[in-house]
Amino acid sequence: MGSLDGFKVTFRQMFLPRVTSSYPDEKRPKPERHHGRHVLNRYEDGMEKCIGCELCAGVCPARCIYVRGADNPVDAPVSPGERYGFVYEINYLRCIHCDLCVEACPTEAITESKLFEYSFTNRSDAIYTKEELVVGDDGNPRHLPWEDWREGDDEDVSAWVRATSSSGSAEFVGRVQWSGDLGRGVQEPEPPQREADEETGEPWWVLSENRGGK
Ligand code: SF4
Ligand code: SF4
Repeated sequence: MGSLDGFKVTFRQMFLPRVTSSYPDEKRPKPERHHGRHVLNRYEDGMEKCIGCELCAGVCPARCIYVRGADNPVDAPVSPGERYGFVYEINYLRCIHCDLCVEACPTEAITESKLFEYSFTNRSDAIYTKEELVVGDDGNPRHLPWEDWREGDDEDVSAWVRATSSSGSAEFVGRVQWSGDLGRGVQEPEPPQREADEETGEPWWVLSENRGGK
């Protein structure tokens, strides 16, 4: 038979369920903790969370964050602290989406959306500025012309995207650890942590407390 054996395999596959999708017209749901394009968050009263401390820039292994802090104007403070992020840039030609900046940030200012579909035709467009990264007045990430946002890409942008748990301790399971966000308020812990235990009906964090945080 020789090469005809190969055609037999192809013919058989034609009648099996299709496992591919017609990307980019059809996109599969992304994981809850997907690391995509960053956002700079704001508090519920509209103030920016970034205090310009530069910890994110210091921890970034790709050295792609540039931050300059400045004293808050007395009459019109930008953030609740003494200082705010005066300049904030991320170079997406270098970012590896490791999320270490998210982990390092003391004010939960920087988090990541689920968007990864964005491309550039020149190097300067790949450097996102603060104006592009800070969320809009509705608390949602700004949708830029070259970005392909789909439903769900800007959901759970903050309060969710920790790459690791706090010191890995079960004591923190189910606890809300993040401050409220503009347009979103204080968000619940992740769904797997919210769900009641099937045997006892108790939520995870109650079970954790009963076990002494183990
Ligand atoms: S995700 Fe990682 S590489 Fe990208 S800006 Fe943050 S620390 Fe740097
Ligand atoms: S994003 Fe967070 S870590 Fe980075 S400068 Fe602002 S407050 Fe500091």
